[in-house]
Amino acid sequence: MTNFSPLSRDDADPSPLPEIPAQLRAVLNGIQALVGYWDNGLRNRLANDAYCEWFGFSPQQLHGMHIRDVLGEAVLEANRPYIERALAGEAQQFDRTLVDPAGESRFTEVTYTPDTRDGAVQGFFVQVTDITERVLADRRRQRDMDRYRALARSVPGVFVLLFDAELRYLIAEGQELETFGYRREELEGQRIQDVLKGDLAAELEPRYRAALAGREVSWSRQIGHRTYRLNAGPVYSDEDAAAGMVVAVDVTERLQQQQVWRALHELATEVARNAAPEDISERVAAIVRGLFNVDSAAVVRFTGASSAEIVAMAPTLPPTLSRRQIFAPTDESATVRVAVTGKPAHVVYRPEGGQVAEQMRAGGFQSAAAAPIRVRGSLWGAVSLTSKSRTGVTEAMMERLAQFAELVEIAIGNTEARTDLEQQATTDALSGLPNRRALERHLAEQVAVAGSRGTYLSAIVLDIDHFKRINDTYGHLMGDVVLAEVAARLRTVARSKEIVARFGGEEFVWLLPETDGAEALLAAERARKAIASEPFGDAGYLTISAGVCEQRDATAGSLLDCADRALYEAKNGGRNRTSRYGHPTPAAAQSTPARQSTPAGQAPDATEPREAQTKPEARTTRGA
Ligand code: GH3
Ligand code: MG
Ligand code: MG
Repeated sequence: MTNFSPLSRDDADPSPLPEIPAQLRAVLNGIQALVGYWDNGLRNRLANDAYCEWFGFSPQQLHGMHIRDVLGEAVLEANRPYIERALAGEAQQFDRTLVDPAGESRFTEVTYTPDTRDGAVQGFFVQVTDITERVLADRRRQRDMDRYRALARSVPGVFVLLFDAELRYLIAEGQELETFGYRREELEGQRIQDVLKGDLAAELEPRYRAALAGREVSWSRQIGHRTYRLNAGPVYSDEDAAAGMVVAVDVTERLQQQQVWRALHELATEVARNAAPEDISERVAAIVRGLFNVDSAAVVRFTGASSAEIVAMAPTLPPTLSRRQIFAPTDESATVRVAVTGKPAHVVYRPEGGQVAEQMRAGGFQSAAAAPIRVRGSLWGAVSLTSKSRTGVTEAMMERLAQFAELVEIAIGNTEARTDLEQQATTDALSGLPNRRALERHLAEQVAVAGSRGTYLSAIVLDIDHFKRINDTYGHLMGDVVLAEVAARLRTVARSKEIVARFGGEEFVWLLPETDGAEALLAAERARKAIASEPFGDAGYLTISAGVCEQRDATAGSLLDCADRALYEAKNGGRNRTSRYGHPTPAAAQSTPARQSTPAGQAPDATEPREAQTKPEARTTRGA
């Protein structure tokens, strides 16, 4: 502390100062800093060119000058504590903002290194390093970091980690961090191996290193019910100090949305493939169960004010559960709530929740949600979710289910509309039987099946005898009623796998798979009797004639053609009879005549003139 005195000029050492050797000057000039030496009298004894230039003196001028004359009073005062401590033998370092000769502000780092010889401080070296670039880079990095922080804090469902080349966290920001079990304060400033739990550091290290090496790495992590996508990549804040950054984003909703889109795509494909409504419902139940990750999902159709049918269920309907459900409007079931209110519903089953709730509880279910499916404006049914946990189905899931149900409506609505149209296009409105178009499709199928299996396929063509008379006598309306009644009687004598179609006019075709001609002839006889045995109301008794044909290697055309020829024989044989192609029946063997229709008080038709029979010509086009 005895060295305070040199700060006063009065104590200046007037002794002459030695010259600086040229080699030393060269070395000093090579240093990227201002370098000087002040003796313990605070006279300059050494300065490189940069130092001289900075203060605006020539080396000769500066040499021997007192520090006060070089720095000026104000700077000397500011540096005084450092100078005093340096002269006391303590190395000093501090930052200074200086204005350079060009008037620009520079950030500098100043060091005073005491020159101690023989236990006494002889002076101190000064080194002033321009750190402006570094300071600016630091500021930029800080600003970047502040931005990362702001970003991480402002975006929900995100966190950001910034780490340096030592795998030390510089920033750990974002509320989501806590979901992972970490707080910002415990991560920042720490190396990953010192702070991460379990084997996490070992797992993350290769990814972090890859990021530092300039690559992008992504991975996913499931935490509870949420899914996070983590992405690590390089950060170039300035050329040398590369850092890595991890951004974690909660992608749960996005994944769910993707799943919904995939499910929709699947449904749309089914609809496009003309899947039946039941198949669509099956898909919906399976998709919904997967989408919501619940124990079971179902598509239910409301069939009455207090009845419903489980159209589809995933997993499949348990044998203990009836497909047809009867419910009371007060039942605490999500589906019943939808049936009653038409709005989405969520329930947690209670012991006093009514019969349906009781049944569900017995099955181990505890919570459920359902949403309405509306088709063409009216409540068609519901799609439902059930869980064996009280919290397995939530209100939030109900909301999402309702959105999904709106999309299901489109799929089911489309399919139903198409099925209706198809039904209309293939059904004869008067008789309710398949029409000619449908028959042709069935025929083609049956012919193919018979051909591949080598089984018989038989066809019967039936035609009402003297039908024209009914129209002529009682009018067309009565004719229509009679036609419908004939169709109904034919349907009752046919078996379920057989097709009875209205081919046109008062003519019907009956297809009998796996039936040979003899059996088919018996079937035709049953039909003939069913028509002839009972009167048709006011129209009285009627008869039909039928032609039978069997074929193993049939074509659609040839089968109908030969049955038609047999019909022609039956008509020619006197009507009210059946005939099998290729098996002419002796007239005497024909069945007993039924009571005949005698609308115009005529004699039975066995006596009809033959010229009326002109059919084969009219039908030959069929075989084409
Ligand atoms: P056949 O014993 O020779 O079969 O005598 P038919 O009078 O039954 O013969 P035809 O085939 O000449 O006459 C069929 C009649 O059936 C002609 C047509 O007016 C009538 N008809 C066809 N379709 C309908 C229909 O949809 N409704 C009504 N009411 N009549 C129909
Ligand atoms: Mg007829
Ligand atoms: Mg006819």
